[in-house]
Amino acid sequence: MANYHPADELLMQFAAGQLTNALGIQTACHLESCQQCQHKVRLYEQLGGDLIDISTPTEVDSGAKSRLLTNLHKLRADSAETSATSSNAATGNTATDNTFANNTGAIEDLDELYKKQLSGANQRLPRPLRRFLPDYYENLPWSGFSKSIQSYDLPFSDDQYTARFYKIAAGSELPQHTHRGNEFTLVMSGSFSDLSGDYNPGDFVLADSSTHHQPRAHEKEDCICFAVTDAPLKMTGFFGRMLNPFLK
Ligand SMILES: [Zn+2]
Repeated sequence: MANYHPADELLMQFAAGQLTNALGIQTACHLESCQQCQHKVRLYEQLGGDLIDISTPTEVDSGAKSRLLTNLHKLRADSAETSATSSNAATGNTATDNTFANNTGAIEDLDELYKKQLSGANQRLPRPLRRFLPDYYENLPWSGFSKSIQSYDLPFSDDQYTARFYKIAAGSELPQHTHRGNEFTLVMSGSFSDLSGDYNPGDFVLADSSTHHQPRAHEKEDCICFAVTDAPLKMTGFFGRMLNPFLK
């Protein structure tokens, strides 16, 4: 069971559907194994419902509903047309053959695609990640400048946040670093420690520009972390500073 949890503000934003994909999926992964935070999210959802119940309705003109429906139908028709055009233009082995890359199409198609992705996904992965990962952690195409720390870019970064897995090799220590912005870290497997504590699967940690740390993976296995950052890491030790130009 997790010892470190997302802040209440983050859980509130999750309940209100306000988080972007990167932070939303990361929070959903923590929730999958944390009953304590699930309970809070249910309360916040209930609170949101109560707020709607007690709010005063505003009069809208009688044509508003039909205009909304017309716009929704038009959006859906445009989306189906775009999907058909891109399929026709495609030749040979293209992204349309890749169930992890093709995310356009009508709602019915997306539902089918979603089911196909889930049925082919590795069941050991947390449910919120299953449709986005081609394989379990050990078989992902990791990349990096050193064996001690490797990364895998997750396909749902957005304008504000970068979502990435980091793999710290068993027993390895990262160069000392701080953060230019916020870094939300969720431990997926293995464990690591720094001066502020020991972090195990399910633990959710926030580091910011006031955090100077040097995480070290425990000896017995590699540590896989799901990191969401709004700015790159900034290495502060001697060797770390030499690595700064290589960081994305
Ligand atoms: Zn929790």
